[in-house]
Amino acid sequence: MKISGYLIDLEKTIETIRKKKYKTIALHLPEGLKSRTLKIVDTLEKETNCIIIVLADPCFGACDIANYELKNIGVEFVIKIGHTSIPNLGNDFIPTVFINALSSKNISHIVKKSLVHLEGTRIGVVTTAQHIHTIKIVESILKKQNFESIISDGDKRVYKKGQILGCNFSSGLKIADRVDSFLFIGSGNFHPLGLLLSTKKPVIAADPYSNTIKKQELIDLKDTILRQRYGAIANSKNAKNFGILIGIKRGQQRLELIYKIKDMLKSLNKKSYYIAMDNFSSIKLQSYRNIDCFVSTSCPRIAIDDYLQYKKPIITPIELEIVLNKRKWEDYQFDQINND
Ligand code: SF4
Repeated sequence: MKISGYLIDLEKTIETIRKKKYKTIALHLPEGLKSRTLKIVDTLEKETNCIIIVLADPCFGACDIANYELKNIGVEFVIKIGHTSIPNLGNDFIPTVFINALSSKNISHIVKKSLVHLEGTRIGVVTTAQHIHTIKIVESILKKQNFESIISDGDKRVYKKGQILGCNFSSGLKIADRVDSFLFIGSGNFHPLGLLLSTKKPVIAADPYSNTIKKQELIDLKDTILRQRYGAIANSKNAKNFGILIGIKRGQQRLELIYKIKDMLKSLNKKSYYIAMDNFSSIKLQSYRNIDCFVSTSCPRIAIDDYLQYKKPIITPIELEIVLNKRKWEDYQFDQINND
């Protein structure tokens, strides 16, 4: 179905619901698409006769796999709209389908506008799930202007070739040494900033919604973030008590890493505590006054993008290595969740 600027393919899912004879379904959309929820509910009700329960909690990404507790309210099937799945992450709890919301925005104009800003001739092309269907168009525009497009698969966490996630830039990293610069198609700073921090290559972000190109703005933002990270690391140097933050969302869990961190801290006579949360917020951590530093093993963006909300330093596992003198600042890397 076409719904204010997006193409959302419900057909196959409606067929599945009919075939499996599901009676109660949960529907989950990210904030940016929530205003379209009721129209989708109306369509699903009409086509399937099912009870549709809207999940109003935030949905930040494909990592947010449906929770077993939904069974308590009779949910048999979950529809997640607006994200692609994380291929190597099944859901043993409740059958779940991810339906991408493809943007119907024309990207040709902004890609042509980006050409004068590109560095070199070998261009890595990356985008988000919303624009992934436009990659061939980008490739053809670049080819006509004698640029070579290089597009790569990501690791097992990434659904489509050329796609990046806020926590995984493997489709960019795999080609970083073969490209002169990256062209990112999409809106906001979240993805291109992560791409810049992780690949350390020039990134040109072409936003088809605002019709703007960002390059220097991203470099400035990167410098600000790196200054903040340096400060967070410096502020954690004398920490004695650490909180190791664990994400309850299945796609954010790195259990081997939490044990490794605890062992590493223990070997240096540092005390640490495991603290788990579903949705992270600084308020939830305020009571743990004796913790000097939090290490987030959950979504890597919590420490980076939400840093200013936290009263105590919140750092990534890689930054902890710098705090503990196991890695040099010069070898700083952007934390990612990789599934090789
Ligand atoms: S872990 Fe973070 S960046 Fe990755 S999909 Fe989840 S919310 Fe997005």
